Amino acid sequence: MEGTTEGRGRGRSVVVVEDNVRSRRLVRDLLELQGFVPVEAETAEEGLEAVRRCAPALVLLDIQLPGMDGEAALRALRADPATASLPVVAVTAYAMRGDEERLLAAGFDAYIAKPIDTRAFVPRLLELIDGDGR
Ligand code: MN
Repeated sequence: MEGTTEGRGRGRSVVVVEDNVRSRRLVRDLLELQGFVPVEAETAEEGLEAVRRCAPALVLLDIQLPGMDGEAALRALRADPATASLPVVAVTAYAMRGDEERLLAAGFDAYIAKPIDTRAFVPRLLELIDGDGR
């Protein structure tokens, strides 16, 4: 059927930095269903280590994290030539007017609000990774 995204992940890794277990599980399930390989991290520090280790296609970065927050983690990724151009998506539950603009201005490639829209989620990631969602 036209429009299906089955298997479009093609085994590519996505680092998921998320301290909330339930949110992390949801994202993991959505990614696995489409053939991505989720690499999970509970903190920004673990996430940065995971990025160095597995060279993912994309990073999902929760903004509210214990210790180093998502914006600081983004700065660390952008400061390293090896990860400077990696697609990084901000994920946040506390969306306020102006947050999206602020996060995009900070250098995130995209912004996804929680609760996550499960239908739009993977197509959006594919757009960011492949440019056209295919
Ligand atoms: Mn969080």
